Amino acid sequence: MDTNNETRALARKRRQRRARQRLLLAIGLVVLAAVVVLGVLLLGGKGKDTPSTTGTQAESISVQSTAAPGSTAQADTGSTQAQQTETQAAPEDGSWKLILVNADHPLPEGYTVTLKALRNGHYVDERIYPELQQMFDDARAQGIYPFINESYRTAERQQQIMDNYIARYENQGMRHEDAVAKALTIVAVPGTSEHQMGLALDIIAEYDSDSSATWTWLKNNSWRYGFILRYPADKEAVTGISFEPWHFRYVGVPTAQEITESGLCLEEYLEKQG
Ligand SMILES: [Zn+2]
Repeated sequence: MDTNNETRALARKRRQRRARQRLLLAIGLVVLAAVVVLGVLLLGGKGKDTPSTTGTQAESISVQSTAAPGSTAQADTGSTQAQQTETQAAPEDGSWKLILVNADHPLPEGYTVTLKALRNGHYVDERIYPELQQMFDDARAQGIYPFINESYRTAERQQQIMDNYIARYENQGMRHEDAVAKALTIVAVPGTSEHQMGLALDIIAEYDSDSSATWTWLKNNSWRYGFILRYPADKEAVTGISFEPWHFRYVGVPTAQEITESGLCLEEYLEKQG
């Protein structure tokens, strides 16, 4: 009797234990399932984020794909935009790519440009956009993250930059004439800057302060996309501009290749062409 009772008591305890174990197992499974579902959600969310992050990077130099560039460009170019149609017809031959603009060669009278608005507030001549985007995409694929620091400028903006430099030098104690002279070695007089054409870009590295790897990549590869290092270190006497490792000018692929391979600067190349 006692033994039977003990056996029954033991059996009951065992059943209770098993029930507890099953309950614990069930709780465990529910927790596990929750963790799995959460994980899938997180990964799924990440998966959705990744392309858009890449997209944002790509778009940091991208144009507004849908918005008409004219609407944004208008604000900047003002009446220039209105003149667009007359001059637009002429440069279809590609000569626009080789227009020389420097201290001795101001922007042609009534020069107009159809601008493409980049996502980060910059503008470029819309004709150089596809190759510019390709260059940035290819650079990024190779671990180089270029970033546009300066692009198209209005004459007003060019003047502003010039004035800022002059003011800075004057604040350092320079006489006005000296401040102007020094500024002229660094900034182009309004009307003589390639930036006003929308064909020039100042490019730095996106993430770190040291842009040298980006500049080296661009120096070696930008010609494939039609861009040249416009102010090389050994051409300061010809270009009249101090070495600018960041400044690239669009001239089209064939010319960019010739200039890069020959080691000439744009002034020398055009002189040779006659
Ligand atoms: Zn520049």
